Amino acid sequence: MKQYKLRTVLAIRFALLILVAISLVSIISNVLINRQFESYVEKQQKIEADDLAKSLETQYHIGKNGWNLDYVHGIGMAALDDGFIIKLYDKDENILWDAENHDMRLCHEVMESIAVRMQNKRPDMEGSFQVHRYDLMQTGEIVGYLDISYYSPYYMDETDFQFMSALNRILIAIGGVSLVGAMSMGILLSNKIVKPISETVGIIQQISMGDYNTRFQGNITTKELYELAHAVNHMAESLEEQENLRKRLTSDVAHELRTPVANIASYMEMMMDGVLEPTPERLETCYREWQRISDLISDLERLRQMESEHLVLQKTEVNLRELSEMVMKNFESRLRQKQIEGQVVGDESLILVDRGRMQQVMSNLVSNAIKYSDGKGMVRIVIKDTKKNSIIYVEDSGIGISTQDLNRIFERFYRTDRSRNRKTGGAGIGLTIVKTIVQAHRGTITVESEEGKGSRFIVMLPKGNSLQ
Ligand code: ADP
Repeated sequence: MKQYKLRTVLAIRFALLILVAISLVSIISNVLINRQFESYVEKQQKIEADDLAKSLETQYHIGKNGWNLDYVHGIGMAALDDGFIIKLYDKDENILWDAENHDMRLCHEVMESIAVRMQNKRPDMEGSFQVHRYDLMQTGEIVGYLDISYYSPYYMDETDFQFMSALNRILIAIGGVSLVGAMSMGILLSNKIVKPISETVGIIQQISMGDYNTRFQGNITTKELYELAHAVNHMAESLEEQENLRKRLTSDVAHELRTPVANIASYMEMMMDGVLEPTPERLETCYREWQRISDLISDLERLRQMESEHLVLQKTEVNLRELSEMVMKNFESRLRQKQIEGQVVGDESLILVDRGRMQQVMSNLVSNAIKYSDGKGMVRIVIKDTKKNSIIYVEDSGIGISTQDLNRIFERFYRTDRSRNRKTGGAGIGLTIVKTIVQAHRGTITVESEEGKGSRFIVMLPKGNSLQ
């Protein structure tokens, strides 16, 4: 199906809508104004006829007992010019003055021109000359009768029609100007809507070509469009993050593998060349390097398992206090070696969790706490039970973590410089595994630390969600 640009569709629809609206308003106002004017003319005509009757009434003089026919003639001829044909009777209905008798030709001319004009301009009006009778009174007595014949319901002269058509032209002009204005507004408006959309589409296309760096920069006042651009920016950000992580993962794996592989290779070479004797110690060094590689591979394998979408949790009710004591016991010999005191305190907190994985979380945290302590300190697990959560604190008095490292230690392969320089320490995967397990339980893990003083890892496990 043919696709049209959003801008065109919006502009056309908007223009059509405005066209219909303006046409309706113009037509309605035109009709209303015309009708109003016609009714005004009709009323005016009636008023004029009434005035005519009144002014003729005054031409009767009771004292002289008669009509001033000279004036009647003057008034009658003037009225004829305005389209009023009058006939005056005395009180016995004898004709005193009749416009038609007086100037038949002029009367017919006037009637004809009015009738023709009105039939031309208002063909559906079906008007005609009609006689309106007035009783002429003085001091409460009838002194005569007046018949005024004029084109009814109303008639208009040339100037009236000119006025009407001027009015119509003005209305049409206003309609035209508003239409042009509205269409320009429509185009402006559709541009305003379309611009951020096309920019967002452009960004999505760039992202699909692998450029995760682009972001929507403009200002948007429309809520939905703002949310769209915001969502795209967010998507670009997380894709960029993922991409960086992927790159770092590859280089970190290479980095982690390089040293042990190089060590094994050089030992092997020298032993094969006979430069070094393959003593049990040297073979053991090779074995330890190989062990490092093997540990790394199993760490990676575990991480892959954890991070796969189907991390299936086998939840049972677990007493976290009891589990902590068990974990601490497992580290007994390492604690003793480093002369570190291990402690478990706090509430008996019952919660539905995957026991094996929760044990791993605690083991990793305690193992780190021991690894990153210089000895003669303490490692403590504190369990806190609240209505909604079970909280596990793993605290140590070890080397601590600098502020800039705090946010990053949960990333894969991230190791602080201080821990890289140490002989102990793994590949930087332990905390990533911890975080993955905690998140699978819909919990959170945070860390507080001060360099040289120690660290505290806080795992918060929601009880409600854990029942799901
Ligand atoms: P690793 O295998 O290196 O211990 P982790 O993912 O467990 O990897 O930890 C990542 C990094 O976080 C460590 O290398 C270390 O620098 C830092 N870290 C973790 N736990 C502690 C702690 N208790 N005290 C100080 N630093 C820690």
